[in-house]
Amino acid sequence: MRTQIAIIGAGPAGLFLGHLLHKAGIEVTILERKDRAYVEGRVRAGVLEQGTTNLMKQLGVDARLKKEGLVHTSTNLAYDGEIFRINMAELTGGSTVTVYGQQEVMRDLFDAAAERGIKIIFDAGDVTLHEIESDHPFVTYKKDESEERLDCDYIVGCDGYHGVSRGAIPASAYTAFERVYPFGWLGILADVPPVNHELIYANHANGFALASMRSPTRSRYYIQCSVDEKIEDWPDERFWDEVCLRLGPEGSHNLVRGPSFEKTIAPLRSFVGEPMRFGRLFLAGDAAHIVPPTGAKGLNLAVSDVTILGEAFAEFYNLGSPKGLEGYSARALKRVWKAERFSWWFTSIMHRFPNTEAFDRKMQIAELSYLKTSRAAQTTLAENYVGLPIE
Ligand SMILES: Cc1cc2nc3c(=O)[nH]c(=O)nc-3n(C[C@H](O)[C@H](O)[C@H](O)COP(=O)(O)OP(=O)(O)OC[C@H]3O[C@@H](n4cnc5c(N)ncnc54)[C@H](O)[C@@H]3O)c2cc1C
Repeated sequence: MRTQIAIIGAGPAGLFLGHLLHKAGIEVTILERKDRAYVEGRVRAGVLEQGTTNLMKQLGVDARLKKEGLVHTSTNLAYDGEIFRINMAELTGGSTVTVYGQQEVMRDLFDAAAERGIKIIFDAGDVTLHEIESDHPFVTYKKDESEERLDCDYIVGCDGYHGVSRGAIPASAYTAFERVYPFGWLGILADVPPVNHELIYANHANGFALASMRSPTRSRYYIQCSVDEKIEDWPDERFWDEVCLRLGPEGSHNLVRGPSFEKTIAPLRSFVGEPMRFGRLFLAGDAAHIVPPTGAKGLNLAVSDVTILGEAFAEFYNLGSPKGLEGYSARALKRVWKAERFSWWFTSIMHRFPNTEAFDRKMQIAELSYLKTSRAAQTTLAENYVGLPIE
Protein backbone atom coordinates (compact mmCIF):
# COMPACT_ATOMS: atom_id res chain seq x y z
CA MET A 1 0.00 0.00 0.00
CA ARG A 2 1.08 3.57 -0.58
CA THR A 3 -0.03 6.90 0.84
CA GLN A 4 1.42 10.39 1.04
CA ILE A 5 1.27 10.72 4.84
CA ALA A 6 1.18 7.77 7.26
CA ILE A 7 -0.17 8.82 10.66
CA ILE A 8 0.44 6.55 13.65
CA GLY A 9 -2.39 6.82 16.21
CA ALA A 10 -6.05 7.86 15.87
CA GLY A 11 -6.26 9.97 19.04
CA PRO A 12 -7.02 13.71 18.87
CA ALA A 13 -3.67 14.58 17.20
CA GLY A 14 -3.94 11.87 14.53
CA LEU A 15 -7.58 12.51 13.68
CA PHE A 16 -7.39 16.32 13.58
CA LEU A 17 -4.33 16.00 11.34
CA GLY A 18 -6.12 13.44 9.16
CA HIS A 19 -8.98 15.91 8.63
CA LEU A 20 -6.67 18.85 7.96
CA LEU A 21 -4.68 16.92 5.35
CA HIS A 22 -7.80 15.47 3.72
CA LYS A 23 -9.19 19.02 3.43
CA ALA A 24 -5.95 20.13 1.75
CA GLY A 25 -6.25 17.30 -0.79
CA ILE A 26 -3.37 15.27 0.69
CA GLU A 27 -3.67 11.50 0.88
CA VAL A 28 -3.46 10.05 4.37
CA THR A 29 -3.69 6.66 6.10
CA ILE A 30 -4.06 6.44 9.88
CA LEU A 31 -2.86 3.31 11.71
CA GLU A 32 -4.45 2.75 15.13
CA ARG A 33 -3.52 -0.15 17.36
CA LYS A 34 -6.91 -0.29 19.17
CA ASP A 35 -10.50 -0.21 17.93
CA ARG A 36 -12.74 2.84 17.63
CA ALA A 37 -14.75 2.05 20.77
CA TYR A 38 -11.58 1.96 22.87
CA VAL A 39 -10.22 5.30 21.60
CA GLU A 40 -13.62 6.98 21.83
CA GLY A 41 -14.30 5.58 25.29
CA ARG A 42 -11.27 7.04 27.05
CA VAL A 43 -12.35 9.62 29.63
CA ARG A 44 -9.75 12.35 29.43
CA ALA A 45 -9.79 16.01 28.45
CA GLY A 46 -12.81 18.24 28.80
CA VAL A 47 -11.79 21.87 28.40
CA LEU A 48 -11.27 23.13 24.85
CA GLU A 49 -9.40 26.32 24.07
CA GLN A 50 -10.80 28.88 21.66
CA GLY A 51 -8.32 27.72 18.98
CA THR A 52 -9.56 24.13 19.28
CA THR A 53 -13.22 25.06 18.88
CA ASN A 54 -12.26 27.36 15.98
CA LEU A 55 -10.56 24.43 14.25
CA MET A 56 -13.59 22.19 14.77
CA LYS A 57 -15.69 24.88 13.09
CA GLN A 58 -13.22 25.27 10.23
CA LEU A 59 -13.26 21.49 9.66
CA GLY A 60 -17.07 21.35 9.78
CA VAL A 61 -17.18 18.98 12.76
CA ASP A 62 -18.80 21.37 15.24
CA ALA A 63 -22.54 20.67 14.84
CA ARG A 64 -22.87 18.94 18.24
CA LEU A 65 -20.23 21.17 19.84
CA LYS A 66 -22.39 24.22 19.02
CA LYS A 67 -25.45 22.58 20.59
CA GLU A 68 -23.92 20.76 23.56
CA GLY A 69 -20.63 22.55 24.36
CA LEU A 70 -20.73 24.68 27.51
CA VAL A 71 -19.02 28.01 26.82
CA HIS A 72 -17.25 29.37 29.89
CA THR A 73 -16.31 33.03 30.06
CA SER A 74 -14.85 32.76 33.57
CA THR A 75 -13.13 30.38 35.97
CA ASN A 76 -12.84 30.34 39.78
CA LEU A 77 -9.99 29.85 42.22
CA ALA A 78 -10.46 28.95 45.88
CA TYR A 79 -8.04 29.06 48.79
CA ASP A 80 -8.39 29.30 52.53
CA GLY A 81 -12.17 29.04 52.20
CA GLU A 82 -12.44 32.04 49.84
CA ILE A 83 -13.42 31.93 46.16
CA PHE A 84 -12.74 34.49 43.49
CA ARG A 85 -13.69 34.64 39.83
CA ILE A 86 -11.47 35.43 36.88
CA ASN A 87 -13.42 36.80 33.93
CA MET A 88 -11.31 35.43 31.08
CA ALA A 89 -13.48 36.81 28.29
CA GLU A 90 -13.28 40.36 29.64
CA LEU A 91 -9.51 40.13 30.19
CA THR A 92 -8.70 38.66 26.78
CA GLY A 93 -10.94 40.64 24.46
CA GLY A 94 -13.66 38.00 24.30
CA SER A 95 -11.89 34.61 24.29
CA THR A 96 -13.55 31.74 26.14
CA VAL A 97 -13.08 28.02 26.76
CA THR A 98 -15.68 25.36 26.01
CA VAL A 99 -16.42 22.32 28.14
CA TYR A 100 -16.95 19.42 25.73
CA GLY A 101 -15.50 16.00 26.55
CA GLN A 102 -12.68 14.41 24.58
CA GLN A 103 -15.02 11.44 24.04
CA GLU A 104 -17.47 13.74 22.23
CA VAL A 105 -14.67 15.33 20.17
CA MET A 106 -13.50 11.86 19.13
CA ARG A 107 -17.00 10.76 18.20
CA ASP A 108 -17.46 13.83 15.97
CA LEU A 109 -14.05 13.32 14.32
CA PHE A 110 -14.61 9.57 13.73
CA ASP A 111 -18.12 10.11 12.31
CA ALA A 112 -16.86 12.79 9.91
CA ALA A 113 -13.82 10.67 8.94
CA ALA A 114 -16.13 7.79 7.99
CA GLU A 115 -18.36 10.12 5.94
CA ARG A 116 -15.39 11.73 4.18
CA GLY A 117 -13.58 8.49 3.45
CA ILE A 118 -10.50 9.26 5.57
CA LYS A 119 -8.72 5.94 5.80
CA ILE A 120 -8.24 4.59 9.34
CA ILE A 121 -6.90 1.07 9.91
CA PHE A 122 -7.93 -0.05 13.39
CA ASP A 123 -6.36 -2.97 15.30
CA ALA A 124 -3.02 -2.43 13.55
CA GLY A 125 -0.53 -4.45 15.64
CA ASP A 126 3.26 -4.23 15.92
CA VAL A 127 3.49 -0.92 14.08
CA THR A 128 7.16 -0.37 13.18
CA LEU A 129 8.76 2.63 11.47
CA HIS A 130 11.47 2.05 8.85
CA GLU A 131 14.06 4.15 7.03
CA ILE A 132 12.91 7.47 8.44
CA GLU A 133 16.25 9.03 7.47
CA SER A 134 15.81 8.09 3.81
CA ASP A 135 13.39 9.62 1.30
CA HIS A 136 11.40 6.38 1.08
CA PRO A 137 10.20 5.70 4.63
CA PHE A 138 7.65 2.98 5.31
CA VAL A 139 5.67 1.45 8.13
CA THR A 140 4.99 -2.22 8.74
CA TYR A 141 2.17 -3.60 10.89
CA LYS A 142 0.10 -6.69 11.53
CA LYS A 143 -3.56 -6.84 10.60
CA ASP A 144 -5.68 -9.98 11.00
CA GLU A 145 -2.55 -12.15 11.31
CA SER A 146 -1.02 -10.88 8.06
CA GLU A 147 2.06 -8.63 7.74
CA GLU A 148 1.36 -5.37 5.92
CA ARG A 149 3.59 -2.61 4.55
CA LEU A 150 2.63 1.03 4.03
CA ASP A 151 4.99 3.15 1.90
CA CYS A 152 4.73 6.91 2.25
CA ASP A 153 6.43 10.29 1.79
CA TYR A 154 6.32 11.18 5.50
CA ILE A 155 5.34 9.57 8.81
CA VAL A 156 3.66 11.50 11.63
CA GLY A 157 3.84 9.96 15.11
CA CYS A 158 0.57 10.86 16.88
CA ASP A 159 0.70 7.76 19.08
CA GLY A 160 0.77 9.38 22.51
CA TYR A 161 3.27 9.15 25.33
CA HIS A 162 3.47 5.34 25.25
CA GLY A 163 3.65 4.99 21.46
CA VAL A 164 6.48 3.69 19.28
CA SER A 165 7.25 6.72 17.10
CA ARG A 166 9.34 8.73 19.55
CA GLY A 167 11.63 5.74 20.07
CA ALA A 168 12.45 5.64 16.34
CA ILE A 169 14.56 8.80 16.76
CA PRO A 170 18.16 7.89 17.65
CA ALA A 171 19.01 8.86 21.25
CA SER A 172 22.00 10.88 20.01
CA ALA A 173 19.69 13.18 18.04
CA TYR A 174 17.12 13.68 20.79
CA THR A 175 16.95 15.50 24.14
CA ALA A 176 14.23 14.84 26.71
CA PHE A 177 13.27 17.35 29.42
CA GLU A 178 11.13 15.98 32.22
CA ARG A 179 9.61 16.68 35.62
CA VAL A 180 7.62 14.01 37.46
CA TYR A 181 5.36 15.42 40.21
CA PRO A 182 5.20 13.67 43.58
CA PHE A 183 1.39 13.23 43.43
CA GLY A 184 -1.45 12.17 41.13
CA TRP A 185 -5.08 13.08 40.47
CA LEU A 186 -7.91 10.88 41.63
CA GLY A 187 -10.83 11.66 39.31
CA ILE A 188 -14.47 10.60 39.26
CA LEU A 189 -17.41 11.02 36.92
CA ALA A 190 -20.93 11.05 38.34
CA ASP A 191 -24.35 11.76 36.89
CA VAL A 192 -25.13 14.63 39.22
CA PRO A 193 -25.48 18.33 38.34
CA PRO A 194 -22.23 20.31 38.68
CA VAL A 195 -21.73 22.20 41.94
CA ASN A 196 -21.22 25.42 39.96
CA HIS A 197 -21.81 26.48 36.34
CA GLU A 198 -18.05 27.21 36.00
CA LEU A 199 -14.95 25.31 37.11
CA ILE A 200 -13.55 25.76 40.64
CA TYR A 201 -9.83 25.13 41.22
CA ALA A 202 -9.07 24.83 44.95
CA ASN A 203 -5.84 24.98 46.93
CA HIS A 204 -6.41 23.45 50.39
CA ALA A 205 -3.92 22.44 53.07
CA ASN A 206 -4.87 18.80 52.30
CA GLY A 207 -4.13 19.31 48.60
CA PHE A 208 -5.68 20.38 45.32
CA ALA A 209 -9.29 19.82 44.22
CA LEU A 210 -11.09 20.62 40.97
CA ALA A 211 -14.83 20.81 40.42
CA SER A 212 -15.46 20.38 36.71
CA MET A 213 -18.20 18.96 34.50
CA ARG A 214 -19.04 17.34 31.20
CA SER A 215 -22.66 18.53 30.86
CA PRO A 216 -25.42 20.12 32.98
CA THR A 217 -26.13 16.65 34.39
CA ARG A 218 -22.67 15.09 34.53
CA SER A 219 -19.92 16.20 36.94
CA ARG A 220 -16.19 15.59 36.89
CA TYR A 221 -14.29 16.01 40.17
CA TYR A 222 -10.62 15.55 40.92
CA ILE A 223 -8.57 15.57 44.09
CA GLN A 224 -4.81 15.44 44.46
CA CYS A 225 -3.69 12.12 45.93
CA SER A 226 -0.41 10.35 46.51
CA VAL A 227 0.93 8.33 43.57
CA ASP A 228 0.75 5.03 45.43
CA GLU A 229 -2.87 5.52 46.53
CA LYS A 230 -5.29 2.65 45.78
CA ILE A 231 -8.70 3.31 44.25
CA GLU A 232 -10.28 0.71 46.60
CA ASP A 233 -9.30 2.98 49.49
CA TRP A 234 -11.50 5.73 48.07
CA PRO A 235 -15.15 4.66 48.32
CA ASP A 236 -17.49 7.38 47.03
CA GLU A 237 -18.41 8.75 50.47
CA ARG A 238 -14.76 9.29 51.39
CA PHE A 239 -14.18 11.02 48.04
CA TRP A 240 -17.20 13.33 48.43
CA ASP A 241 -16.20 14.25 52.01
CA GLU A 242 -12.70 15.15 50.89
CA VAL A 243 -13.74 17.11 47.82
CA CYS A 244 -16.22 19.14 49.94
CA LEU A 245 -13.55 19.86 52.53
CA ARG A 246 -11.08 21.04 49.90
CA LEU A 247 -13.58 23.18 47.95
CA GLY A 248 -14.52 24.89 51.22
CA PRO A 249 -18.01 25.75 52.53
CA GLU A 250 -18.71 28.35 49.81
CA GLY A 251 -17.42 26.15 47.01
CA SER A 252 -19.27 23.02 48.10
CA HIS A 253 -22.58 24.21 49.54
CA ASN A 254 -24.51 23.24 46.39
CA LEU A 255 -22.65 19.98 45.83
CA VAL A 256 -24.87 17.04 44.95
CA ARG A 257 -23.44 13.62 45.80
CA GLY A 258 -24.17 10.49 43.81
CA PRO A 259 -22.61 7.20 42.78
CA SER A 260 -19.49 7.56 40.64
CA PHE A 261 -19.35 5.45 37.46
CA GLU A 262 -15.70 6.12 36.66
CA LYS A 263 -12.82 6.44 39.08
CA THR A 264 -9.15 6.60 38.06
CA ILE A 265 -5.81 7.82 39.31
CA ALA A 266 -3.57 9.66 36.83
CA PRO A 267 0.08 10.54 37.46
CA LEU A 268 1.28 14.08 36.72
CA ARG A 269 4.26 14.78 34.52
CA SER A 270 5.83 17.53 32.42
CA PHE A 271 7.78 16.25 29.43
CA VAL A 272 9.17 17.71 26.21
CA GLY A 273 11.38 15.97 23.67
CA GLU A 274 13.37 17.97 21.16
CA PRO A 275 13.32 18.10 18.18
CA MET A 276 9.81 17.24 17.03
CA ARG A 277 11.12 16.16 13.64
CA PHE A 278 13.81 13.71 12.62
CA GLY A 279 14.31 12.90 8.94
CA ARG A 280 10.92 11.97 7.48
CA LEU A 281 9.31 11.52 10.91
CA PHE A 282 7.33 14.27 12.64
CA LEU A 283 5.94 14.01 16.18
CA ALA A 284 2.75 15.71 17.38
CA GLY A 285 0.64 15.74 20.56
CA ASP A 286 1.41 13.56 23.57
CA ALA A 287 4.00 11.64 21.51
CA ALA A 288 6.12 14.80 21.66
CA HIS A 289 5.19 16.33 25.02
CA ILE A 290 3.12 15.88 28.17
CA VAL A 291 1.71 18.49 30.54
CA PRO A 292 0.14 18.00 33.97
CA PRO A 293 -3.64 18.34 33.47
CA THR A 294 -3.99 21.41 35.73
CA GLY A 295 -3.95 23.89 32.84
CA ALA A 296 -6.17 21.69 30.59
CA LYS A 297 -3.61 21.97 27.81
CA GLY A 298 -2.85 18.42 26.55
CA LEU A 299 -5.49 18.01 23.86
CA ASN A 300 -5.25 21.67 22.95
CA LEU A 301 -1.49 21.41 22.40
CA ALA A 302 -2.04 18.38 20.16
CA VAL A 303 -4.39 20.58 18.13
CA SER A 304 -1.92 23.47 17.80
CA ASP A 305 0.87 21.06 16.74
CA VAL A 306 -1.20 19.55 13.96
CA THR A 307 -2.51 22.96 12.88
CA ILE A 308 1.11 24.01 12.28
CA LEU A 309 1.98 20.70 10.64
CA GLY A 310 -1.15 20.67 8.47
CA GLU A 311 -0.27 24.14 7.15
CA ALA A 312 3.31 23.01 6.47
CA PHE A 313 2.20 19.92 4.49
CA ALA A 314 -0.31 22.00 2.50
CA GLU A 315 2.48 24.48 1.67
CA PHE A 316 4.73 21.61 0.60
CA TYR A 317 2.27 19.64 -1.53
CA ASN A 318 0.21 22.51 -2.92
CA LEU A 319 2.81 25.30 -3.27
CA GLY A 320 6.03 23.27 -3.47
CA SER A 321 7.65 25.01 -0.48
CA PRO A 322 9.44 22.90 2.19
CA LYS A 323 9.88 25.92 4.51
CA GLY A 324 6.98 25.06 6.79
CA LEU A 325 8.17 21.48 7.21
CA GLU A 326 11.70 22.65 7.94
CA GLY A 327 10.46 25.11 10.56
CA TYR A 328 7.81 22.83 12.13
CA SER A 329 9.76 21.69 15.18
CA ALA A 330 10.97 25.16 16.18
CA ARG A 331 7.56 26.78 15.59
CA ALA A 332 5.61 24.11 17.47
CA LEU A 333 8.11 24.01 20.37
CA LYS A 334 7.75 27.76 20.94
CA ARG A 335 4.10 27.29 21.85
CA VAL A 336 4.68 23.94 23.58
CA TRP A 337 7.18 25.47 26.04
CA LYS A 338 4.80 28.32 26.88
CA ALA A 339 2.01 25.84 27.61
CA GLU A 340 4.47 23.74 29.63
CA ARG A 341 5.38 26.82 31.66
CA PHE A 342 1.75 27.68 32.35
CA SER A 343 0.82 24.09 33.30
CA TRP A 344 3.87 23.79 35.59
CA TRP A 345 3.17 27.17 37.23
CA PHE A 346 -0.55 26.47 37.77
CA THR A 347 0.32 23.03 39.17
CA SER A 348 2.94 24.58 41.45
CA ILE A 349 0.62 27.17 43.02
CA MET A 350 -2.39 24.84 43.46
CA HIS A 351 -0.92 21.58 44.87
CA ARG A 352 0.49 20.51 48.16
CA PHE A 353 4.07 19.33 47.65
CA PRO A 354 5.18 16.69 50.16
CA ASN A 355 8.16 17.58 52.34
CA THR A 356 8.03 21.27 51.57
CA GLU A 357 8.25 23.90 54.24
CA ALA A 358 5.56 26.11 55.70
CA PHE A 359 7.30 28.91 53.82
CA ASP A 360 6.32 27.34 50.46
CA ARG A 361 2.65 27.27 51.43
CA LYS A 362 2.85 30.93 52.44
CA MET A 363 4.26 31.68 48.98
CA GLN A 364 1.33 29.88 47.32
CA ILE A 365 -1.19 31.81 49.40
CA ALA A 366 0.56 35.10 48.66
CA GLU A 367 0.45 34.31 44.94
CA LEU A 368 -3.26 33.45 45.07
CA SER A 369 -4.01 36.56 47.10
CA TYR A 370 -2.14 38.63 44.48
CA LEU A 371 -4.15 36.93 41.71
CA LYS A 372 -7.34 37.78 43.53
CA THR A 373 -6.65 41.51 43.48
CA SER A 374 -4.38 42.18 40.51
CA ARG A 375 -5.87 42.66 37.05
CA ALA A 376 -2.38 42.20 35.56
CA ALA A 377 -1.97 38.80 37.27
CA GLN A 378 -5.48 37.74 36.25
CA THR A 379 -4.82 38.77 32.64
CA THR A 380 -1.71 36.59 32.57
CA LEU A 381 -3.68 33.59 33.82
CA ALA A 382 -6.61 34.30 31.50
CA GLU A 383 -4.63 34.64 28.28
CA ASN A 384 -2.76 31.41 28.97
CA TYR A 385 -5.91 29.54 30.01
CA VAL A 386 -7.89 30.42 26.87
CA GLY A 387 -4.82 29.54 24.79
CA LEU A 388 -1.92 31.57 23.44
CA PRO A 389 -1.83 32.30 19.71
CA ILE A 390 0.31 30.25 17.34
CA GLU A 391 3.25 32.48 16.38
C1 LIG B 1 -7.18 12.61 33.46
C2 LIG B 1 -6.81 13.46 32.27
C3 LIG B 1 -7.41 14.71 32.10
C4 LIG B 1 -7.08 15.51 31.02
N1 LIG B 1 -7.69 16.75 30.87
C5 LIG B 1 -7.39 17.52 29.81
C6 LIG B 1 -8.09 18.76 29.54
O1 LIG B 1 -9.01 19.18 30.27
N2 LIG B 1 -7.75 19.48 28.44
C7 LIG B 1 -6.77 19.03 27.57
O2 LIG B 1 -6.49 19.71 26.57
N3 LIG B 1 -6.11 17.85 27.77
C8 LIG B 1 -6.40 17.08 28.85
N4 LIG B 1 -5.79 15.85 29.01
C9 LIG B 1 -4.77 15.42 28.06
C10 LIG B 1 -5.34 14.88 26.76
O3 LIG B 1 -6.25 13.84 27.03
C11 LIG B 1 -4.18 14.35 25.89
O4 LIG B 1 -3.19 15.35 25.82
C12 LIG B 1 -4.65 14.00 24.47
O5 LIG B 1 -5.39 12.81 24.47
C13 LIG B 1 -3.43 13.83 23.54
O6 LIG B 1 -3.85 13.40 22.28
P1 LIG B 1 -2.87 12.57 21.34
O7 LIG B 1 -3.64 12.26 20.12
O8 LIG B 1 -1.58 13.28 21.21
O9 LIG B 1 -2.52 11.26 22.15
P2 LIG B 1 -3.50 10.05 22.67
O10 LIG B 1 -4.83 10.61 23.05
O11 LIG B 1 -2.69 9.35 23.66
O12 LIG B 1 -3.70 9.17 21.37
C14 LIG B 1 -2.70 8.32 20.87
C15 LIG B 1 -3.33 7.23 20.03
O13 LIG B 1 -2.29 6.43 19.48
C16 LIG B 1 -2.60 5.06 19.64
N5 LIG B 1 -1.34 4.30 19.69
C17 LIG B 1 -0.46 4.22 20.71
N6 LIG B 1 0.57 3.43 20.40
C18 LIG B 1 0.34 2.98 19.13
C19 LIG B 1 1.04 2.13 18.26
N7 LIG B 1 2.18 1.56 18.65
N8 LIG B 1 0.53 1.90 17.04
C20 LIG B 1 -0.64 2.48 16.65
N9 LIG B 1 -1.36 3.29 17.45
C21 LIG B 1 -0.88 3.56 18.67
C22 LIG B 1 -3.38 5.01 20.94
O14 LIG B 1 -4.21 3.85 21.02
C23 LIG B 1 -4.21 6.29 20.86
O15 LIG B 1 -5.44 6.11 20.22
C24 LIG B 1 -6.12 15.03 30.07
C25 LIG B 1 -5.52 13.78 30.23
C26 LIG B 1 -5.86 12.98 31.31
C27 LIG B 1 -5.22 11.63 31.45
